[in-house]
Amino acid sequence: MHDPRCCVPNCQVRAYAPAGTQSVCKDHFLNFLTWRRRKGPQMFHKYAGMTMAERDTIATEWLKTIRLDEVPPPAQKA
Ligand SMILES: [Zn+2]
Repeated sequence: MHDPRCCVPNCQVRAYAPAGTQSVCKDHFLNFLTWRRRKGPQMFHKYAGMTMAERDTIATEWLKTIRLDEVPPPAQKA
């Protein structure tokens, strides 16, 4: 079973969409989409054809960036 909460550290928001084998909340999912777009259209399209293991690698890479870039707000009630 997956954790029904966002997999981003310190984020307690209910999961909205998958990021690899994990799940993220709506805000973080949009952040993930933006991050992939920023990496270029190639990456954006490639992701769709990736295996779960490959997506996890991408998601992990992204997670590292948001941990540096932004401090998520403290626990929010959904
Ligand atoms: Zn989140």
